[in-house]
Order: sequence, then structure tokens, then C-alpha cells
Amino acid sequence: MRAVTERGLQVVIGLEIHAQLLTASKMFCGCAVAFGAPPNTLVCPVCLGLPGALPVPNRRAVELGLRTALALGCRVHPRSQFHRKNYYYPDLPKNYQISQYQYMDHPPLATDGWLEIEVDGEVRAIRIRRVHLEEDTGKLLHPQDGRPRSLVDYNRSGVPLMEIVTQPDLRSPAEAREFLLELRALLQTLEVSAGRMEEGTLRVDANISLRQPDGTLGTRTEVKNLNSLRALERALTFEAERQAGLLAQGTPVVQETRHWDERRQVTFSTRTKEEAEDYRYFPEPDLVPLHIDEAWLDAIRASLPELPAQRRARYVTALGLGRHEANLIVRDPKLAAFFEATLAAFPQPRTVANWLVGDVAGVLHAEGREIDQTALTPARLADLLRLVEEGRISIRAAKELLPEVMRRDDPPAALVAERGLEQLSDPEALARVVDEVLAAHSQPAEEYRQGKDRALAFLVGQVMKRTGGRANPDLVNRLLRERLRNA
Ligand code: ADP
Ligand code: MG
Ligand code: ZN
Repeated sequence: MRAVTERGLQVVIGLEIHAQLLTASKMFCGCAVAFGAPPNTLVCPVCLGLPGALPVPNRRAVELGLRTALALGCRVHPRSQFHRKNYYYPDLPKNYQISQYQYMDHPPLATDGWLEIEVDGEVRAIRIRRVHLEEDTGKLLHPQDGRPRSLVDYNRSGVPLMEIVTQPDLRSPAEAREFLLELRALLQTLEVSAGRMEEGTLRVDANISLRQPDGTLGTRTEVKNLNSLRALERALTFEAERQAGLLAQGTPVVQETRHWDERRQVTFSTRTKEEAEDYRYFPEPDLVPLHIDEAWLDAIRASLPELPAQRRARYVTALGLGRHEANLIVRDPKLAAFFEATLAAFPQPRTVANWLVGDVAGVLHAEGREIDQTALTPARLADLLRLVEEGRISIRAAKELLPEVMRRDDPPAALVAERGLEQLSDPEALARVVDEVLAAHSQPAEEYRQGKDRALAFLVGQVMKRTGGRANPDLVNRLLRERLRNA
């Protein structure tokens, strides 16, 4: 970000994150929440906005919001209010969205929390402005079949959403990415949201401005259509440079909403930013305020699982993992669960962690899959590692076998037998091969005796060659040394 740093400007970023909640039914009606159902089959008078239909809040959605709020250290308001956010759009049949707005005496579900992230070895608390509940809109479809028309599917209309808004505490696009990774891990660990950006269950809008060296705040723009972590980071980098370029020319930054164009890798203006007044927020007259009692909160607090930050610390201090490995595992709660289940059968944390973030992650990445979409189970990984530990296969053989273990529903030992990968560890059999090799190569044997260590490596290589690479290298080394010493 050359133009930004050259002028001594400071990037200021605040995020607004929408997470679809993992409930069975919608926010204010009993319709099912499901992906991929035929259009307009998961609808009723409430989520279609028909006259006279009345909303009823989903208790589970409130509970998931509270789990998140407590995990973020927020102040939960004992009495919060739903509001109407008014605007017209074809995917919003009521012409208003039921949301929660912030007034002095009408607070949203929860406010004033924080989430810690680690940036360049330094821990920073990013403040959370609020956590509130609202409902999703329907979906507009624009079929590209030559007939100019738009279709609307209301299956998503009324699906529970939680919005998490940060304070403008993030200082770079990379920090914004870190924050989102940490928040996603938190939401997944809490089992409140699937948190998948590519599927739209986690969506982020990013606000960005530049602060002058003297501390004067700049005008912010809001960037939308960020469908991946990469898009978030790239769009913010582009936008910081664009704003710095404007400031360099003496052109003011306009407060507006901009879209990220993934193909062209630029942001473009879509509308000037509407102010809160434009939405004519007012308390939702069809809903009484939400009352959250202490007993409910206590029960939820007691049910919170180990959070990513605690888990990371435990992996480092109690299990001896490096921060990097711990972080990679904790960032993916499914991987963390897999890791711990493997430890139950093979209690060597560092070995298991290295395999998971190394070779296993390599296969997953290459095949674009997640750990639960493979044939690998914690028991199978433990079996594989035990074969190495017992000297029955080499580490190299285990690595070679891994993709197949992840693909096929067979125990690793069966695959080892099938491929003839079993290591030769029978001292008598190996001693015969060693003797053959020494007889065939008297020159290197002589060189070794005169102190040339490299000659030993050559002899080991010859034994490996004659055994098709299956000889146990430690044993071969020992046998060779013994023979050469005694000769
Ligand atoms: P709303 O969008 O509802 O009007 P705010 O304007 O208060 O709410 O803030 C929306 C988001 O913009 C928040 O995430 C906040 O951190 C961020 N934000 C506010 N001011 C700035 C700024 N100067 N630079 C970058 N982000 C900002
Ligand atoms: Mg907003
Ligand atoms: Zn409905």
C-alpha cells in the first residue's frame, strides 16, 4: 500500500458481519430453514409479509445470539427491542426488515464486547460495538435465458441472522482478515453458525477510511460483495490505495457504498451511503420487547464450550504445540475436534499436529475437501501413526500411503499389506543383505574404516536398493556399523 504509507496515513477499518444462525426454523415464523429446496416452498403468510400476519420470535435464535454475545464479553441488555428498518426492494415483501436498532433506552440484544486477535506476535483487543438479531431477505434471481425478467424466491425470507458490528479498531486489510478468521472459528466453535463465506452463511461488509498523521479521521466508504477472505483483503487494499490517491490529488473521499468487482479486482460506487434517518427506524409494534432473565443467561454461560483463544493457549502450554500449529488447528473447529479425538488413540500431540497441518492439510488443499469429507478418521490416523511408531512402515511409506488412507475405506494395515510397504525389520534377513552389499563393494567399506563417513551412506543406499526401499534404515545403519567394526 504505497500511497498510504508514503503519506503517513493510517488505515481504519470496521466490519459489519452477518451470520446465518443454525436454527431449524425461521426468525419469526415456523417455516423450515433449508438450502436448496424448490423456490417458494418454505413460506407462510408471516415470511411472505401478508396483511395481518404476526411475527413470533424464535427462542433458539435468541439463545444463539446470547451465546455469541457472552462469548464476546458483551453486556447483554435485559430488555431489548426489535425495530422496523423501512425500505422497498422486491426481495423484502413487507417493505421493512425486522431488525434491532440502537437508541438510548432501546438497546439491541447486546453491546460493548471484544475479541482478541494476534498480529505480529502482539495481542490486540478489537472492540465489538453490538450484536443484534434480524431477519434475512428473499433472493432475486436473474435467469440468463434470453427472456428479460427477474424471479424472486422467498425461501430465505425471514431466515434468522445475527449481525456483529465492530468498532473501527482494525488497522490493516490483513488485520481485518485475521479478525474474520478468529470470529469464524468462534461462531463455529459455539455452533451458532456454519460460518461459510462461500455459501453466504457468513457475510461481511467492510468500512474503511484513512486517518491523517495528526489524527484527523477521514471519510469512510463501505465495501460490499466480499465473498471470500481473499476478496476482503484485496478489496480493502484496493480501497485504501484509491482513497490515498484521491487525498493526494486534494479530492475529498465521498461517503458511499462500493461493490467489489471480483473479475476486475476493483471497487465501484453503487450508491451514496444512506443515513439511519433514511430507514425511518421505529419500534416494531407487533412485538413486545425481549426480556432476557438472569437464570437463562447463567444457564447459557455455563454451557459455553472452550473458546478458540482458551483452546489455543492450552495447546501451546499443556500440549507443547508451536503457536503456528496451534493456530492452524484452532482456526478450524472440525480439525480441532479431529485432533483431540486422534490424541485419545495416539497421545503424541506434536506428531499428530504436524501430520494434520502438514501432510493431511496438503491432501485436503489439493483436493479441495474438508476433513469430514474424506475416509480419514481419528482412529485411522492413529493406526497409521502407530505403524510408523512400531517400525512396521517408514515415515516415507506412511506419507506415500496417506492420500489412499484418506480416500479408501480400509484400515491402513490392509493398505500396507496390499502395497507391500511393510518395512523389513527382521535382523537376520537384513544381515544377509548387508553382507551381500559389503561383499560387492569392498572399496567403500575400506574407505569407511579409514574415516570417510560418506561411504556409509553409500552402503545404506545399496541395501535400500536391494530391498526395494523397505529396509528399516535405523537397523541397516546399525548392522553396517557392527559389521564394519568387527571385520
Ligand atoms: P451504521 O452503518 O449502522 O450507520 P456506523 O456508521 O456507526 O453504523 O458504523 C458502521 C461500521 O462502520 C462499524 O463497523 C464501524 O466500526 C465502522 N466505522 C465507523 N466509522 C468509521 C471510520 N471512520 N472508518 C472506518 N470504519 C468506520
Ligand atoms: Mg450498517
Ligand atoms: Zn414463514
